[in-house]
Amino acid sequence: MSETATFPGDKIASIEEYEAGYNTFDDGDMVRASTVGEKNLDKTTRVASIKHPKMLSIPKVGDIVIGTVAAAMSSMIAVTIDYINGKPTTSKVECICSIRNLRKKNVALVNDIVTLKILNHLNGTIHAAIDEPQLGVLFTKCRKCGGKVVTMRDAIKCTECSWIDERKLSSDFGKSEFFHLRE
Ligand SMILES: [Zn+2]
Repeated sequence: MSETATFPGDKIASIEEYEAGYNTFDDGDMVRASTVGEKNLDKTTRVASIKHPKMLSIPKVGDIVIGTVAAAMSSMIAVTIDYINGKPTTSKVECICSIRNLRKKNVALVNDIVTLKILNHLNGTIHAAIDEPQLGVLFTKCRKCGGKVVTMRDAIKCTECSWIDERKLSSDFGKSEFFHLRE
């Protein structure tokens, strides 16, 4: 893992210098990553792209994973795992996480990036926890307008429309280095 690791939305180059290649998009100013992966700036073709990691692996009990919320229900969330202990994976393994005891309306929304701890494998399903301080949402957007949010104590507030919402935030929320922590 290095500083070339990207998350969706990360700025990877200026459009004046590079064209948007695979797994990227251009927002009119910057080329941004549309997926997790590894940044690849081709200096010859001037194309910026994201290499999707290829390792296939299943997390073990106690592993810390980072993933993208694929479904959010009132009692659980389903998360597609992108990183296991800080290492990228493309196996697209899903885990589920019970959120029944959290007493929050929006623990995490679809497409939020969350960090979870693997609890057990039960009947072919991987179960994970979100209730420790370092676990929870690492990246989210405003539910109303898709704007950038900042934390306000336990809540989040949209910098665009001022909508205040809640999530189960990780203590690493807003830190860009979070995926180095468990290496
Ligand atoms: Zn908003």
